[in-house]
Amino acid sequence: SVPRVVVVGGGSGGATAARYLARDGAGAVDVTLIEPQRIYQTCYFGNLYLGGFFDYDDLAHGYGGLASTYGINVVHDWAVGVDRDAKTVRLASGPSVPYDHLVLSPGIDFVDGSVPGWSVSAQGRMPHAYKGGTQVQLLRAQIEAMPQGGTFAMVAPPNPYRCPPGPYERISMVAHYLRENNPTAKILVVDPKESFSKQALFEEGWDRHYSGMVTRIGPDMGGSSFEVDAEAMTVTIDGVVENVDVCNVIPGQRAGQIAFAADIVDGNWAPVSAYDMTSRIDPAITVLGDAAAQGAMPKSGFSANSQAKVAANAILASLTGSRAFPARYANTCWSLIDTDDGVKVGATYEASDEGIVSVDSFVSQTGEDAETRAATYRESLDWYQAITTDMFV
Ligand code: FAD
Repeated sequence: SVPRVVVVGGGSGGATAARYLARDGAGAVDVTLIEPQRIYQTCYFGNLYLGGFFDYDDLAHGYGGLASTYGINVVHDWAVGVDRDAKTVRLASGPSVPYDHLVLSPGIDFVDGSVPGWSVSAQGRMPHAYKGGTQVQLLRAQIEAMPQGGTFAMVAPPNPYRCPPGPYERISMVAHYLRENNPTAKILVVDPKESFSKQALFEEGWDRHYSGMVTRIGPDMGGSSFEVDAEAMTVTIDGVVENVDVCNVIPGQRAGQIAFAADIVDGNWAPVSAYDMTSRIDPAITVLGDAAAQGAMPKSGFSANSQAKVAANAILASLTGSRAFPARYANTCWSLIDTDDGVKVGATYEASDEGIVSVDSFVSQTGEDAETRAATYRESLDWYQAITTDMFV
């Protein structure tokens, strides 16, 4: 009978994997994709929506093409358990789905208690806007409702987390909106980290475009005690209470819950082989994207998409005997600082016994001319088109 591959999570890693498995496997494998949402809302370019550079509706992508073009069996449900001995995935609605090979690409969940005073139940007042969906709309509405001269606060996450430059691109896009609509407003970033991705580029940009607006406090949240209060809308550092109008809390992160349910984690993440992204705990399971501990690649949509193509090739080779190619990976993270002021950081990677390692890297430079920055921004628009096509079309 035809081998069955079940993919849990229809995001950057999972949708890509399902599409390549079904397309290149052409009838030799049976592919089921389990994903609760009918529409995938990309996190990428969500910051540009906050800044007014991208429409909310343009972040949305449906699964119809994966079903109709590639014959993927798309099941809109949550996977709630994995029986690794029986090789079945249990769905929230009850039934179990059998697999010969399982792919997990569930993205992230939050570490409980990582930000004192905040829990997921506070996300309606202090949104994270760090998974897809309506949280980013709520955040945008809160920014629009800020009083003139008010304060936007962000609690930045500890490493490792998805999209290393993401919080700082968000600061740039919020600053852009505020400069146009609320120029006396202030932005306060409270950060556990010593330093962050593309820091020199962001700080140069904030000075140049949003002078005096952004204050970053860190490392260690700037003190020995820190908490937020979502009812009072306060941020308290060493007992000093700051009233804020918006508070975007981006908590500490871990692999999506289903990786814990499958019992393939070590600490917060699921360790994988760099050669094919198979779990180091169960070789019948592949883990992609943010949930995987793979080595040097940042947790990004580009990375997840790149890993998914390597993994699909390896899974087809093992199930159908088709040709396996050596693992090669790539990533680029673009960020928009202000209109036509785009920057990027990226690398290519290969596999080693210790994990995925970088072989070549590049990063935008401070002081670049306007044409270079505009070209970098245009590249990012092309990339958005390319990755969403590679996932869904
Ligand atoms: P996701 O894309 O999050 O997909 C996970 C999917 O699994 C979700 O659809 C979810 O519904 C589903 N799921 C979870 N649990 C279950 C379950 N139990 N059963 C069934 N389905 C389940 N990356 C870039 O490359 N470039 C960028 O410019 C960029 N910008 C970003 C900006 C922001 C503000 C943020 C937050 C992220 C950004 N990222 C960017 C990072 C990128 O979004 C993630 O790294 C990427 O989506 C990870 O892919 P994934 O497949 O691991 O998870």
